[in-house]
Amino acid sequence: MSATLFVSQSLVDHHSIPPSHPESPLRPLSIETILRQSGLWSDLGHATAVPADTNALLRVHTARYIEQLHLITPKKGTILAAEDTPMASDTLHAATEAAGAGIMAVEAVLRGDYKNAFCAVRPPGHHAEPTKSKGFCFLNNIAIAAQHAIHCMGIKRVCIFDFDVHQCNGTIEALGNNPHVLIVSTFQHPLYPFSHYFNQPANVVNIPLQEGCSSIEYRRHCESKIFNAISQFRPELILVSAGFDAHQDDPLGGLNLIEEDFDWLTRLTKDLAQTYCQGRIISMLEGGYDLEALANSAHAHIRALTGK
Ligand SMILES: [Zn+2]
Repeated sequence: MSATLFVSQSLVDHHSIPPSHPESPLRPLSIETILRQSGLWSDLGHATAVPADTNALLRVHTARYIEQLHLITPKKGTILAAEDTPMASDTLHAATEAAGAGIMAVEAVLRGDYKNAFCAVRPPGHHAEPTKSKGFCFLNNIAIAAQHAIHCMGIKRVCIFDFDVHQCNGTIEALGNNPHVLIVSTFQHPLYPFSHYFNQPANVVNIPLQEGCSSIEYRRHCESKIFNAISQFRPELILVSAGFDAHQDDPLGGLNLIEEDFDWLTRLTKDLAQTYCQGRIISMLEGGYDLEALANSAHAHIRALTGK
């Protein structure tokens, strides 16, 4: 049996915003391509996401916000749902499917069908707030998955580990001060979204990093902080907001991580998951905008998840 489930979306090209936008439909395709080329593809279990139902969305977002997303959806072309956050006619379907991927992965891992899972989905989610689209994000996929685990699967303690180069303002807005959740976030500071560094609920562990931070500095600075935070919380499930834009080649971030760092981060997370929650990890794609760096970094992450 495969240890790792790979969840894809039904159409590779939906959320069909212009390919010139950094959050391009080519992103998950680049991951799939490298997995096929390396042979890792056949070591994975595979599933296609189905859209999350409205109740699942309403555990994170307001009914009025969901209604607004339907109302503003363009019949053709794109509109801006927020600054630099284009929305096409098929965006909302893609977003509900991305959210549904996390739910599917949570259920598969908690049933014991797989040890862990990676959801290669877009649009990403961690900047989406309960009432706001933001930073290329519409629905907060990882927060919706966490709430599903808590409300429908009996999980009492979920850790969300976010290693995207940008801080997860949406996840903090949705789950800050939730006693069932710990949010551990490594991110470049100062950098977009500039909003939640000083607004720090008790269940959020911020690990800010200076522009130019190298592999060695990142590991030295983060290892004990990540380890201590997660060890103290003793999660029953670990969710990962896997943004690969802390890579040195990424056009939107200023950190200098390389592929091997994502392997290292994944093994650190796996060790903690093994100690506290039977290895259960669900990882969801967030950022990562240089296609080659994204593919290589996601490959290192997924390979580490499989234990190869
Ligand atoms: Zn990012």
